[in-house]
Amino acid sequence: MRVLAIGAHPDDVEGLCAGTLIKCAARGDHVTIMVATNGNVGSPTLGREEIAAIRRQEAEASASLIGADLIWMDYDDEFLFHDRATRLAFIDAIRKANPDFMIVHGAGDYHPDHRISGEIAVDCRIPVTVPLIETVHPPMTKIPHVFFMDHIGGIGFEPEVYVDVSDVMALKSKMIRCHRSQDEWLRHMYDGDYAEMLTAPSGIRGKAIGVPYAEAFRSLPLYPVMGGAHLLPN
Ligand SMILES: [Zn+2]
Repeated sequence: MRVLAIGAHPDDVEGLCAGTLIKCAARGDHVTIMVATNGNVGSPTLGREEIAAIRRQEAEASASLIGADLIWMDYDDEFLFHDRATRLAFIDAIRKANPDFMIVHGAGDYHPDHRISGEIAVDCRIPVTVPLIETVHPPMTKIPHVFFMDHIGGIGFEPEVYVDVSDVMALKSKMIRCHRSQDEWLRHMYDGDYAEMLTAPSGIRGKAIGVPYAEAFRSLPLYPVMGGAHLLPN
């Protein structure tokens, strides 16, 4: 199985679905983490290029912990738009990862970069198979299934399927802590402990199914339905 998780910012995937990706990697899946924006406004002290370079290194360190490939799209943080060029870039990146399923942000998430990266990914899932849409990487032979990851804070997200990630939380926390620059940033913005803010939602989702930690997902409810919950690890 090949899996592609698309986060809007360099640490979104870690907070919302890294436990599931760890379990995918453990069962032998090829995992790719794609990051849409470079996080270049996520610092109270550093310049845009400086923080973007740091955030890329942090994302690479995190992905390497589970042997995942990283696709760094490098769009400006807070300024991701769904236009022709961006859709073509996403089509090519998804073809490069060639996933059986994608995990993307949902339409009701709080941040425009989240909503738009998810929207582009969903709108690319059929064009990635169309030969006359030419990009660097060849067309895929199958439309990938799409799961939506949880929303930040779980707000407005009705889970359809849970993955118990209790036994991989230590590694998920390690992946989150690779994003050291965000500890400083989130303390500045929200006055909270970064790793705790990103692991706490898994505890809340875990309670819903009677385990210490879980991650929540929904399948894209649109034609054509290409898969379902059975694709996710147990
Ligand atoms: Zn984000």
